[in-house]
Amino acid sequence: MPRLSSLASVADTRAVLDQFGLMTKKALGQHFLINDGIVARICALAELTKEDKVVEIGPGIGTLTEALLKEAGEVVSIERDTDLPAVLAQTLEPWSSSFTLVAADALEVYPADLPFAPNKLVANLPYAVAATLVLDYFERFSSLQSATIMVQAEVAERMSAAPGTKNYGAYTVKLNLFAHAAGKFSVAESNFFPPPRVKSTVIRLDRNEDPLDPVLAQATMTMADAAFENRRKTLSNSMKTYFDRMRPDLDVAEMLPFLFEEASIDPKVRGEKLKLSEYLRLGEAFLHFTDHKN
Ligand code: SAH
Repeated sequence: MPRLSSLASVADTRAVLDQFGLMTKKALGQHFLINDGIVARICALAELTKEDKVVEIGPGIGTLTEALLKEAGEVVSIERDTDLPAVLAQTLEPWSSSFTLVAADALEVYPADLPFAPNKLVANLPYAVAATLVLDYFERFSSLQSATIMVQAEVAERMSAAPGTKNYGAYTVKLNLFAHAAGKFSVAESNFFPPPRVKSTVIRLDRNEDPLDPVLAQATMTMADAAFENRRKTLSNSMKTYFDRMRPDLDVAEMLPFLFEEASIDPKVRGEKLKLSEYLRLGEAFLHFTDHKN
């Protein structure tokens, strides 16, 4: 069977790097895929069609990008390493009509910076910023329907954790306001050049059906931060510590009982026990309380 990506091998990756006199950069989290089977599984999990407009973060030398260009309609890739545009111009030359490169830090890219509104994010992400990027992109790009991404295994666990489990935290709640896990598989270190020192997982996240009011989303994120300020304390103590520090303008002694009452939440439970719908009720109550005050 022909390969989906002509770059997905150690020999081909080394040859491209050597040709341009480059070494992989640790500071940028560069771990290039060298197994075409993994590239194919990422594309399969993303369920790509020619209708898809894909945004990729961190194309590297273009290994996954080449496969995305074969399976999707259009691809825009965001790459921060200023050495790579010259490489990508060569490796992706056959696809120049459906490929755009945005040379930028993905953390600073907004919808107006892209040539189209992407419906899918597919990427082997730089691990240091992966969790932040995924949450930011679901929030920032309302066109995004799914994200199929390679992340550190622990991050995938946090993304898909159930209430009451050890990986469930403020990040899980925040991400789940926008999206939920829809499949994943683990990837061994040997599939990358150079191999990372952490375990990797490809996870697909699908956007939730009901779009959320951004004001309620922000309020609910504040509730998640407050509830997990200290995960060993009760909700009421953890939230008190958070608000005393973060919002001295609020009357916390008055607010907390109001929130628990209106949201019908037991103040003695721990934040890790509450599910998304309960965080949303706290978010609503927080908006009511702060509205009354203004
Ligand atoms: N997708 C490629 C490379 C993944 S390695 C492959 O699978 O082979 C991660 C890539 O993200 C590297 O190319 C790195 O330079 C890039 N990168 C790191 N930080 C970035 C950032 N903030 N914005 C955009 N790209 C970044």
